[in-house]
Amino acid sequence: MSPPKEASTISENATPKNHSSGIGTIAQGGIVGIMGGGQLGRMAAIEAAKLGYSVHIFSPDPQSPAAEVSRWHTCAEFDDKPALETFANSVDVITCEMEHVPADALRCVEAITPLHPKTRVFEICQDRVAEKSFLNEIGVATTRWLPLEKPSQIQDAHENGWRSGIVKTAFAGYDGKGQVRLDSDAQFQAADKIWSQIFAGGDDKETAVLEEIVPFEREISVVVARNSLGQIATFDTVENIHHNHILSITRVPADISQACNETAKTIAAKIADALELQGVLAVEMFLTQSGEILVNELAPRPHNSGHWAMDACNTDQFQLLIRAIAGLPMTMPVRWADAEMINLIGDDVKKTPEYLDMPDAHLHLYGKHEVREGRKMGHVTIIKTLTKDGSI
Ligand code: AMP
Repeated sequence: MSPPKEASTISENATPKNHSSGIGTIAQGGIVGIMGGGQLGRMAAIEAAKLGYSVHIFSPDPQSPAAEVSRWHTCAEFDDKPALETFANSVDVITCEMEHVPADALRCVEAITPLHPKTRVFEICQDRVAEKSFLNEIGVATTRWLPLEKPSQIQDAHENGWRSGIVKTAFAGYDGKGQVRLDSDAQFQAADKIWSQIFAGGDDKETAVLEEIVPFEREISVVVARNSLGQIATFDTVENIHHNHILSITRVPADISQACNETAKTIAAKIADALELQGVLAVEMFLTQSGEILVNELAPRPHNSGHWAMDACNTDQFQLLIRAIAGLPMTMPVRWADAEMINLIGDDVKKTPEYLDMPDAHLHLYGKHEVREGRKMGHVTIIKTLTKDGSI
C-alpha cells in the first residue's frame, strides 16, 4: 500500500494569520511557528496542540520528526529568504527548537512576526565568547577562559602559565564537536594543528575559546521558563551523565544538597531575567569538588536534560515554552516523582520492547526513520513515585 500523502509537507497553503485576542495571548486556533524540525520541536508541537494551537515547522529536513506531528511544514534552507518570509507571515508567534538557526534567518522572521526568545538571546548563546562575556558581566561564574582569534594565542597562553585546557570553537560546536583537550606542552606548541582540527568543519568565523579544565564532581543543569511578565518557573536541578560527549542519563533529584539545588535554580533564574527571556532556557553547569557552581553553557530552548518532567512533574518544559511564547500564565513546576531519563541512542531503540514491559517506564520515540550511530532515537523515563511525605 502506498503511504498517504503527507499533510505536513506543504507551505503555500498555511492559513493567514489569526492574530491574538486578549493581552499578549495567541487566540485559540492560532499558529505557532517553530524553526527547526527535530525531536524538541516535535514535543513542543504536541504541547502546542494540547493548548489549542496549530503548528507550522520550518526545517530543511524532509523527514522532520516535528513536521510529522504538525499541520504545516516549510521544507527549506535557513538562507531561503522568500520561504522565511512566507513562513513568518503565516504564523502568530515563532520560536526555535535549536540554538544554531543562523541569526540572519532569525532577524528575517523577527521583522515580520514576534520571535521568542529574541534574536539577541540566540546571538549570545550561539557564540561562546559572547555567552561567557555576558555571564561574567552579570556576575555568574564560569570556568577561567580566554577568547582566541588565531592559533598563536594558544602558544601565548602557554607562555602565560596555561598547562592544560580545552579549546572549543566559539560557534556551532555541540556534543563535544569542535573541541580539543590540551594536556601537554607539546599540544600547546602544536597550535596550528589544533586550530585546523577544530575548524575542519569549515566555520567561516574562526574564533574559539580556551577554557580551564574543571575537575568537576558532577555535571548538573536547570531548565527555566520565563514569560513576558517576568514570571519565572524553574525545574529541579538534575544530574547529567554523558557518554562520548552525548547526554546519556539524567537523574532527578541530583545527588546534591538542597542548598546547592536552590543555588543552581537561582543562577538559572538570574540568567533568564538578565536575558529578558521569553521562552525556555537550559543552563548547564559544573559542580566542582569544592562545591562551587560554574556555568558551562546556555541553550535558549528546551533541552534533553529537561525531558524527565514530562512524566515526573505537573508540567514540563514544552508546555511552559508554549505558555511563555503565547503569553499564557505559567505554572510552577511540582515534581511528583524521582526519575531517571535514559536516552535511546542509535541501536538502543531496539530495547523498546523491554521498556514497554516495565510499568514505571515512560517511552517517547521520535519517529526517526533511520537508526544511526549517535542519533537520538527516543528516550525513556523511569519514575519512582514519591509518597506523601516525599519518600520513595
Ligand atoms: P560542551 O560542548 O561545552 O557542553 O562540552 C561537552 C562536555 O565536555 C561537557 O558536558 C563536559 O563533560 C566536558 N567539558 C566541557 N568543558 C569542560 C571543562 N571546561 N572542563 C571539564 N570538562 C569539560
